[in-house]
Amino acid sequence: IIEALVNVGERLGVSYRLSTPVAQILLTRDSGRATGVLLSSGEQLSADIVVNNSDLVYAYNNLLPPSTTATALSKRPSSCSSISFYWALDTQVPALSAHNIFLADEYRESFDNIFKKHLIPEQPSFYVNVPSRVDPTAAPEGKDAVVVLVPVGHLLESGSDAHAGSNAPGSTSTSHNASPASARDGKHATPTTQDWPGMVALARRTVLSTIFARTGVDLGPHIAHESANTPATWKTLLNLDKGAILGLSHSFFNVLCFRPPTRARLGGRPGTGLFDELGGAASSIAASIRLGGGDDVKGLYFVGASTHPGTGVPICLAGSKVTAAQILADLGMPAPWAAGEAADHGVMGARGKGGDGAEIDAKRAGPLLSRFHYALLLLLLLVLLSLLVRTGTGTGTGLLRAPLAAPSSRPALRAEL
Ligand SMILES: Cc1cc2nc3c(=O)[nH]c(=O)nc-3n(C[C@H](O)[C@H](O)[C@H](O)COP(=O)(O)OP(=O)(O)OC[C@H]3O[C@@H](n4cnc5c(N)ncnc54)[C@H](O)[C@@H]3O)c2cc1C
Repeated sequence: IIEALVNVGERLGVSYRLSTPVAQILLTRDSGRATGVLLSSGEQLSADIVVNNSDLVYAYNNLLPPSTTATALSKRPSSCSSISFYWALDTQVPALSAHNIFLADEYRESFDNIFKKHLIPEQPSFYVNVPSRVDPTAAPEGKDAVVVLVPVGHLLESGSDAHAGSNAPGSTSTSHNASPASARDGKHATPTTQDWPGMVALARRTVLSTIFARTGVDLGPHIAHESANTPATWKTLLNLDKGAILGLSHSFFNVLCFRPPTRARLGGRPGTGLFDELGGAASSIAASIRLGGGDDVKGLYFVGASTHPGTGVPICLAGSKVTAAQILADLGMPAPWAAGEAADHGVMGARGKGGDGAEIDAKRAGPLLSRFHYALLLLLLLVLLSLLVRTGTGTGTGLLRAPLAAPSSRPALRAEL
């Protein structure tokens, strides 16, 4: 995909500068407009339009001036992270196909450990990919390359960086060739803190013993070379906030109108907002509303996992079209693809000078407080529902059962309500 995109860009005259980190996105003095970027090398590039593709939460907190938006984004729920193993095998393992998913028996407990405790489950579900099964260049003849992805919780705080896992970013280690037999001997205690070396060791043992138990293949002795990535690696290598491999989660207050917009908005200075110290859902709602308000930083756009429409390679590709359409609309230029889509669908892109970019703008230009009202209505509905459920699952005194209940039970109903 990347190769194809690079080819298209080069045909259109784009030049790429790889391994060139951006240290800062440059803004005018009033932060009203982006003017370019400052590279880590000290070189300054000026630009009419800046499109940020680095992790959105990282960018607000590291590349832009401090703001309430940045603070609010840091409090939002993030997606999971992963411990990933990269194994070079000295043989082929026909028992494994290109894509293999191993699901834990204790499904709910497994996912609670990831998403609520931010740890590794005692019995993790994991994904094993064998790229050499479909791409002969991925391993020498007669051998296999294996990638294992074990979903784990994200880093809890930046202090977690101290636990850099068994391998620093980019580094490799040779195999310990541990046999799954040793892993089968005892029950491994689930870690209760984010001890990454411990979690990597646990993940490795569990993956090997599970593959052995379910396929009969003892992979350990065949691992000729290996490396592992932890949440800390993802954070350091890709600047992913908290090492969350999918960016902001797709939880309720992180999707649709609550997802950070593709146009940059800084809000006020940090510490000046009423909700700054709030945590949990309340701060999420407050953060969402605040992200919906304020003025755009002109000429600065976001694309990628943590903005619209969301995370994952196909979704991010779709998102790049959304961002491109908005930029063209802001420049008063028609999107080249708009005419085709108007013919295809009869609606999108047919209205306004900016094609479907203008369509998106029309939706975004609604009254500022409507999101707040939606959130309030939703909260009210949730409170009412929880009351109904509480009383409805009682001992015959519930609201829904009240007309059928014995007269003596009705005072209890009133008391409960
Ligand atoms: C281990 C793992 C497994 C995954 N599996 C899947 C999967 O199976 N299916 C799926 O759909 N998605 C998967 N994803 C998620 C998917 O990769 C992401 O959602 C997607 O790549 C996000 O695209 P993006 O453009 O937002 O960011 P990225 O693809 O991360 O691109 C952002 C780029 O910005 C660069 N960058 C960061 N900071 C700076 C800076 N300061 N200066 C210059 N450049 C910078 C980074 O180096 C990176 O190249 C996986 C992710 C991981 C980590």
